[in-house]
Amino acid sequence: MLMNMKDLLEVANKNGFAVPAFNIGSDQLLKAVMQESIAKNAPVILELSPDELKFVEESLIESMIYEAKKASIPVVIHLDHGDNIDIVKRAIQAGFTSVMIDASKMPYDANVEITKQVVALAHPKNVSVEAELGTIGVTGNSIEGGTKDVIYTDPEQAVDFVEKTGVDTLAVAIGTAHGIYPKDMKPELRLDILQKIKDKVEIPLVLHGGSSNKDEEIAEAVKIGISKINISSDIKVAFYEKCREVLNANPGYREPLEIYPESIKACRCVVGNKIDLFNATDKASLYR
Ligand SMILES: [Zn+2]
Repeated sequence: MLMNMKDLLEVANKNGFAVPAFNIGSDQLLKAVMQESIAKNAPVILELSPDELKFVEESLIESMIYEAKKASIPVVIHLDHGDNIDIVKRAIQAGFTSVMIDASKMPYDANVEITKQVVALAHPKNVSVEAELGTIGVTGNSIEGGTKDVIYTDPEQAVDFVEKTGVDTLAVAIGTAHGIYPKDMKPELRLDILQKIKDKVEIPLVLHGGSSNKDEEIAEAVKIGISKINISSDIKVAFYEKCREVLNANPGYREPLEIYPESIKACRCVVGNKIDLFNATDKASLYR
């Protein structure tokens, strides 16, 4: 069943679990994510960054809508890190049920202004809006970007931002970074800041850069009240490492149906682990 983010995360927020948002960069990843989410009876968010949308094009969005409508689990199709109005319009036109506008690197007032514009554009079409306050870090190996120094979300400013923009969900910066952390980089989540934001802000909160954080920290963040966690690198690493292995072991392979099944299996394994970690297993039943 296809729905928007507001309706999806309201239930997560009330029931203490987080819905995983997986970046779907190809049709094989879509297959892996949908198969495992259905097997786990878990709600799921299929998301694409602007670059991924430009790469897979509208035909894959049509497939996502088809899969979502056919499935008994709730599914949201979400634009990750939209950085301008045109890409937001393209996503809404293509049938996304949720969009993110990320103007977190702009001055505060400009972030408020552009987020308001996107809300005015999206809400009449029943599309929900995610915005970001503070900045997500970079690891240097992700296409998603970020900034070198994480600026933590200010809880007071978060209240003001939500009030002024009418946004449905808010991505907060509490010390995560996009990509896979290099060996010498030890991420520490500032769960104390998360708690302060949670105490003041009622709308569902989102965690970006959730790949390769310590499982205990992520589980704790879910307990405090994160309702959506973005996962991109982790599922892609699993998929393509297996792909590389299969191709190296079988130099004669050229058929997708020979090459990909093992990769899909490896990817599903990571998807399943995230669903369990976020306490989302079997939670699709809450929507029926
Ligand atoms: Zn992100």
